[in-house]
Amino acid sequence: MEENTCIIAHYHEIALKGKNRAFFEKALLFNIKKQAHGLYISAERVSGRIVIYVKKEKRKELAERLGYVFGVHHIEIGVVTSADADAIKEKAREIFSKKEKAPFRVSASRAEKKYPFTSHDLEKEIGAVIHEEFGFPVSLERPEIILRIEVVEHKAYLLTERVEGLGGLPVGVSGKVIVLLSSGFDSPIASLLMMKRGCIPVLVHFHSYPYTSKDSLENVRKLRDVISEYSPTQLLLHEIPLSDIQQYIVTKAPSEFRIVLYRRWMLWIAERIAEKEKALVLVTGDSVGQVASQTLENIRTVSEIATLPILRPLAGLDKEEIIERAKKYRTYDISKLPYDDCCSLFVEGSPRTKTYIEEIKKIEDPLRKALEEKALKALE
Ligand code: ATP
Ligand code: MG
Repeated sequence: MEENTCIIAHYHEIALKGKNRAFFEKALLFNIKKQAHGLYISAERVSGRIVIYVKKEKRKELAERLGYVFGVHHIEIGVVTSADADAIKEKAREIFSKKEKAPFRVSASRAEKKYPFTSHDLEKEIGAVIHEEFGFPVSLERPEIILRIEVVEHKAYLLTERVEGLGGLPVGVSGKVIVLLSSGFDSPIASLLMMKRGCIPVLVHFHSYPYTSKDSLENVRKLRDVISEYSPTQLLLHEIPLSDIQQYIVTKAPSEFRIVLYRRWMLWIAERIAEKEKALVLVTGDSVGQVASQTLENIRTVSEIATLPILRPLAGLDKEEIIERAKKYRTYDISKLPYDDCCSLFVEGSPRTKTYIEEIKKIEDPLRKALEEKALKALE
């Protein structure tokens, strides 16, 4: 009996992808299997949905794991039987014999039209059994129990529980991106939002250890682990020492320009990693106007050093909206831990809120060769 328990994963967006549909579905199935490892019996694509068979006692745990799979719009939990009215009735009896009396409705759908009953017939017939034999009141408007019956490829799925998923596209279908990851609230969310669009993030963190404590490194490793929960494989994290570059900039550039220069060289290094990793774009957690380095002027000055496109998925969000997502995706508890920000190292006073490419180039051009050498050394 137990093998009859199943979870159906529904997707939304990927169904729209025309010829790519099979590719998207296979990626989703692969990610589901990875996530469900050790918890499921079998999983397969069945006519626009993914059906996962599971031992009854594992279904809650499996449902929870599916909450980490981008591309799943929602799941439904239930049992399977053959697409035969009597078999469906029998299963419905089994389900309702164990339930507390409450208003219910039956909602049926058929993927194919070949069955001897219509969806409506099925709803009426099964509804009557539950009402007449078990005394459950029918309520089409305000049911407390909804029995969904899906009839697909000679099988009937009787589903009684629905859980919303993360939505989006399966991780992997869009290609690789380089995410500049600090241990604050923003960049982990930037990373997750890109994963929600099917990207595989390669994480890059810059640290100034031993000039700053090890906290940012430790926090960022923990964040990598949390973010990896949403990926079929553990994400790669590059840890790059920035202090040589910073020390050099400190001796050559006024304090008010240092953050912008640090940021430019972070991007320069990130782009070299992108070449090696065959990543197509760079991603940061910038939100317009959040701090001095994120004014439109400074965003432009910083971006100018890169040739790859830079995506900033948080550009239009405010801190409250970002924190809300950090709680939802469970990065909040790590991001709130204190850490030394490598960007404030050797910066006195306030950084300039508006810098221009020409003035930065005037400072940077004579240093460029030495900076490139130091950057390449940091990459080793
Ligand atoms: P976060 O923005 O992640 O909360 P933060 O507030 O410390 O961290 P900001 O000063 O807002 O960082 O930096 C803007 C963006 O620059 C970050 O979202 C991140 O993409 C990148 N960045 C900043 N510091 C680092 C770092 N040490 N290593 C890698 N990327 C960084
Ligand atoms: Mg920030």
